[in-house]
Amino acid sequence: MKLHLDPALCVRATSKLSICTKCADACPESVEIVEQLPSFAKSTGVEAAACVGACPTSAFSLSDFSVTEFFFTFLESKVRLISSKLNVPCISVLSVEHLISLATASHEAITIDLTPYETGSHLLEVIELRIEEANYVLSSFSDKVIETNLEKALVKETLSDVSAEKAEEESKEGSRRDFFTKNASLEGVAKHKYAFDQAVEADELHNFDIDQNVIDKIKNKHLPDKRKILFTALKRVETPENFEVLAESDISFVSQKYIDDNCTNCQICYRICPTGALSSNGKFSVINFDAMLCVKCHLCHDVCEPDAIHLQPGFETKEFFDSTQRTLATFEVKRCNECANYFTYTGGELTCPRCAVEEEEALFLHSNAKQMEAEKKAALEAQKKEDEEL
Ligand code: SF4
Ligand code: SF4
Ligand code: SF4
Repeated sequence: MKLHLDPALCVRATSKLSICTKCADACPESVEIVEQLPSFAKSTGVEAAACVGACPTSAFSLSDFSVTEFFFTFLESKVRLISSKLNVPCISVLSVEHLISLATASHEAITIDLTPYETGSHLLEVIELRIEEANYVLSSFSDKVIETNLEKALVKETLSDVSAEKAEEESKEGSRRDFFTKNASLEGVAKHKYAFDQAVEADELHNFDIDQNVIDKIKNKHLPDKRKILFTALKRVETPENFEVLAESDISFVSQKYIDDNCTNCQICYRICPTGALSSNGKFSVINFDAMLCVKCHLCHDVCEPDAIHLQPGFETKEFFDSTQRTLATFEVKRCNECANYFTYTGGELTCPRCAVEEEEALFLHSNAKQMEAEKKAALEAQKKEDEEL
């Protein structure tokens, strides 16, 4: 099972100002940021699955495992245990949103098997933090809790051991077959060498490029499947009578925002937002925000030059059940006298900033040309005077 990155979904490909390091923070041993984009060795597989669950925009995926498919097959099955020995390659492929959705959509409590993970390891810490966050959010609107009860896990482990043994037998048989075919002739030996060279090459970091395909894809707004799953799961929950406000710092996957007076309506944040959580209208006279579309990728904050967009200190759980689009800023817009395009009017001439710059440049060039002409004239007159004196 191999790790994949779709650079077009990574916010670092969208803007060089992005400071997102969530994937590298989750898998520091396998993923690092090289020349703006995440990078990992071609051979990197499921050991780096924590980046799959960490990426806010789902830029990472695994070759033979879809979390979305797992969500539906898990709900259809009778098993309420999630284990790397049973049904997932690693618990860390599950994001906080997946955990909340699984717990919410399941009638019975779900249990997560943490026994395969080394105590004190970074991976276990990442997984435990996600479960803790999911339980914190769940506690605000339901009495469901994700268990990590070892006793329950051990019962199911017996079942999984049976399938694991079976799989091991099959894989032993497979490798035996492989070994004999690959070593039966000189050709086999050559293939072996080729495979070895490939493996070595695979261990070198693979760099991703931002080509035209990536650029075209970036332009499309994309809401990750995990958010659609969360929407679907929350529909099964009875709307609470009272809503809570959760601390912003305790929620990693969604946010609420406000914009202060320093905003210049430069349009960058809502043009760049990968999910469409920030948007405007045809005249660009408002900035709207839909919290449930926000994946907290931080890109809008990273690109805002005057630092005018901020996280609200609390997240209102009302958004989970009655999501509303809020207007964070409004602007007076007028048509430019020069180009007839709308621009944010802050008083004075009816000229948009682009035309104002062009006008300034034209004036500068004109006065430069005039000055050069005057200097040339003066030089000619001086020469004429000199010639007359001679
Ligand atoms: S958007 Fe995803 S892939 Fe890109 S840096 Fe952030 S976590 Fe990594
Ligand atoms: S909030 Fe910042 S990035 Fe967004 S329009 Fe205003 S100034 Fe530009
Ligand atoms: S609103 Fe900002 S943090 Fe939320 S998804 Fe859009 S760019 Fe990312």
